[in-house]
Amino acid sequence: MNAEILAVGTELLMGQIANTNAQYLSRRLNDLGINVYYHSVVGDNPMRLKQSLKQALERSDLVITTGGLGPTQDDLTKETIAEAMGKRLVLNIDVYNGIAAFFARQNRKMLENNAKQAYLPEDSIIIPNNNGTAPGCIIEKDNKTVIMFPGPPKEMIPMFEETVFPYLEKKTGQIIGSRLLKVFGIGESEMETRIIDLINSQSNPTIAPYVGDGDVVIRVTARSKDREEADKMIQPVIEKIKERLGDHHIYAFDGEAMEEVAVALLKEKGVNLSVAESCTGGMLASKIVNVPGSSEVFDRGFVTYSNLSKIQELGVSEKTLETYGAVSRETALEMVQGLIKKTGTRAGIAITGIAGPQGGTDKKPVGLVYVALCLDGNLECHELRLMGGRYRIRNVACLNALNYLIKRLRTL
Ligand code: ATP
Ligand code: MG
Repeated sequence: MNAEILAVGTELLMGQIANTNAQYLSRRLNDLGINVYYHSVVGDNPMRLKQSLKQALERSDLVITTGGLGPTQDDLTKETIAEAMGKRLVLNIDVYNGIAAFFARQNRKMLENNAKQAYLPEDSIIIPNNNGTAPGCIIEKDNKTVIMFPGPPKEMIPMFEETVFPYLEKKTGQIIGSRLLKVFGIGESEMETRIIDLINSQSNPTIAPYVGDGDVVIRVTARSKDREEADKMIQPVIEKIKERLGDHHIYAFDGEAMEEVAVALLKEKGVNLSVAESCTGGMLASKIVNVPGSSEVFDRGFVTYSNLSKIQELGVSEKTLETYGAVSRETALEMVQGLIKKTGTRAGIAITGIAGPQGGTDKKPVGLVYVALCLDGNLECHELRLMGGRYRIRNVACLNALNYLIKRLRTL
């Protein structure tokens, strides 16, 4: 089966947004063993969209469109494609009720043009959208398949994963097994160098690395006739990757977030945690609290941004702050010691650093961060020199802190 991805949106043609949907879909279709031969982009214009669709249907078995399913005037993908394929739009009452419920949940009034989204091509398969109002749909006709998605990736991706991936899996007659490895502590290019020969020599399973949010993700995917065999094919590849990268760099094997791994370990080891944050300003606490059930192990967090708050809340000495500065090993250590004294938790983390873009000096550049960790009275402090913008520095500081915690907990 060969496929074409047709992205609809004038914004794409104007260069206002990048076509990340096409990239995502291509990667996943490749996992399914479906060849993608064309990417095309067309603006919000019915005539040109019709032409693009016609051309796509002439050369591809499967055409996937994204964008233009919204409620507004310029959203006309569904109407145009339905007309081109000779399908009427019919009201789907379940979809209508779903959209009404979506608005009710948000305490918003449903408008007339939202009802338009409940009209779908006759005989089409509906792709539910749990993160927005516009459902997608699948039309099958004359051995051709057209699949329509809304534009926003946060809607399109879950819809693809939950409904369309299994649909295509069935269509290709193969089972796709995959594992998502998450790697931290070595850069993307270093990692790629270490496994490039594996990546290039494998076609089934495939190994696909990509950059995550501060870490690196490797997806290993196998095509097979059943789940068990796919798993069997994947396992030796994971072992090889482990050998190349070192066990300790891989913190998750099924796509878990770093904080999920940390919380699971805290629970397993029966350790409770408190945190004191300066430059990350609550981001670490927020990550931890995002994990369901973290209340079992997370005691509290302090955001001690000013010098005064470090003195008042954590008992950092004025002298230390004067002598070494707020961003220093000495301050980080006093922060974590004061934290533990106050909270009595077995584990404590303190973070202080310069997130930028201002505030850096030659001696203390933007991206300098100290992470102090205390577990059962044992102290350690790490100096990080991070790159990137303010968000990235704060995020990667949190990931490092969690990573140190994970490593220490594993030794218990
Ligand atoms: P909505 O109901 O939000 O209007 P829609 O299906 O009508 O959804 P569009 O109006 O075409 O979609 O695009 C909405 C947003 O989705 C865009 O502003 C953009 O942020 C994102 N988007 C659209 N197409 C793509 C794409 N190909 N790649 C990445 N993001 C996209
Ligand atoms: Mg729209």
